Formats: sequence, C-alpha cells, structure tokens
Amino acid sequence: MKFLDEMKVDSNSTWLDLATSCRKENVDDLVEIENELLDRYDEYDDLIENYLDDLDDSEFTDNKDLLKEYYEKPPAGLKKLILERRNDHELLECPFCGNPRSPDTLDHFIPKDNWPEFSIHPNNLVPQCRGCAPTKGEKYYCDEDEKAIFVHPIYSDILSKFKFRIVVEFSIQTKKPTFSLKIMKPRGLDNPSGDRVVKHLRALKLNQRVMDFCNREFTKWKNKLKNKNFDIRIALNHRIHEREDSEQSKNWKTSLYLGMLDNNDLIDYLNSLSTTENTDTEEFEEFEEFEELEL
Ligand SMILES: [Zn+2]
Repeated sequence: MKFLDEMKVDSNSTWLDLATSCRKENVDDLVEIENELLDRYDEYDDLIENYLDDLDDSEFTDNKDLLKEYYEKPPAGLKKLILERRNDHELLECPFCGNPRSPDTLDHFIPKDNWPEFSIHPNNLVPQCRGCAPTKGEKYYCDEDEKAIFVHPIYSDILSKFKFRIVVEFSIQTKKPTFSLKIMKPRGLDNPSGDRVVKHLRALKLNQRVMDFCNREFTKWKNKLKNKNFDIRIALNHRIHEREDSEQSKNWKTSLYLGMLDNNDLIDYLNSLSTTENTDTEEFEEFEEFEELEL
C-alpha cells in the first residue's frame, strides 16, 4: 500500500474551471453554484484531517444529479483528466488494500451520493481496485467508533508503513495448504494508528479476499508446474525481486510468495509436480492452425 501524496492536486479550481467552461446544456446551473463549491473544496483538507468528526449533511443535495452528471458524463477536457487519474498512475497495487493488480477504478473517498459537492474534486478521487470498490461503496463514517472508517491514501501515510505477513501451512497427507494473514505494525507506531488500519482493512473484507487470492495462486502454480519444468523456488524468488526490497510485503503477492518459500514441505510438493520433460526448449508453433483477424 503506497502513500500517494504526489497525487494531491494543489489548485482547487482546475477541474471545476473545465466543467464550468464547457458547452453542456445545463452548464449555467453549475456556474451558479461555482463559488459555493470552491468554498467547500477549501474545507476538504480539514475534513479529511479531522477524521474523528462526522461530516455535516451536504448542502448540495438539491444539485446532486447535476454534480454527479459532471463526473459520470464529463465534458471532453474534464473527461481526459478523470481518465488520466484513473489509468496513468503507474501503480502496481491498490493503495487501499495491497491487491497486487494495477487499480483501474476511481473511488470517491467522501461518497458522492451523500456529499455530491465532491463529485469532481480531484483530491476526493483515489485509484482503487475492483475488489475494494463495491465493499467500500457509500460507507464513510462509523457511529459506533465515532470516526471515519477508511484511511485516505493521498492524505495519510500510515497504510504505507504496514506490511502483510502470510503464514503458509501444508498438509503432506491431503496435499492442501492453509493460509493465515497477519498485519504487521512497525513497533514505533502508536496503537491508535494500528487500530485505524485494522478497522480500514476489516471494512474492506481483507481476510477473505486474501484467502481467495492465496488459493487461486496455489492452483495457478500447480498448473504451471504440471505443464512446464521449472524450480518453484527460483520462480518465486524471481517474482519477489521484481519489487524493491522496501516494497516487498506491502502487497499480497510478495507476502504470499515469501510465506510459500518458508514452507519446505509445500515447496517440495510443488517441485514434485514438475516431472515433465523440458517443454520450454521444444519448437512449438502455437498459432500454426490459426489465422489472424483485424480488430
Ligand atoms: Zn483494493
């Protein structure tokens, strides 16, 4: 999980200027509330900073459809910026949960249904994976704990300080592994920060999603080894070192691979599956029986 401070947009008006200078039919309605929106944007940093305070109800609910429309059907100039923010971030994992897939959705950190004024405020838009998106949804504040449920990856670096540890056990009898996920808090970090991160990850249903991921990965490697002759130790080490040392264990994949390498019974079992002759050196015309079509 990475701290995304570089994604913070300093000028509050750039995106809104693009919206209010477009030629959409209802643009006058937006121009009418432009100054109120800018005032509200000015409060955004404080709202995120004060995550212990519940948000007041929005004063923009009458304009909800209008404001959501400028996000969902943006004019060309704004659309370009939204797509850039969603796709051109070079992130290899989800900043909310550590899912080792490049995030390809944008989360409205303060949900746009209840607070539509932040529909096109860039700092409210955070790249997120498709596993987190439906789970986080419209949730914002927890009345029970009296604080915001989630940590904002652009405003807080605490998620980036934690590591995942995945302990792998393997039964030689059943040939089945079991996985358990641990969240590793740096010793110097205070307990409230730890509680906050645990709450964030629990709300994203991390345990179940990581277990599903581990089981899929185990099946994937079993199938690969049955089809190709290679040493699983070398393959896993190779993948782990695709990441810088400091980034290892900050996503599920490297944590799982480190956990697998720690279990000799599992590694021996996987390597025993790889009994086929070296198929990777054989000449193999994959598309011999196919013809190419233009798309
Ligand atoms: Zn995620």
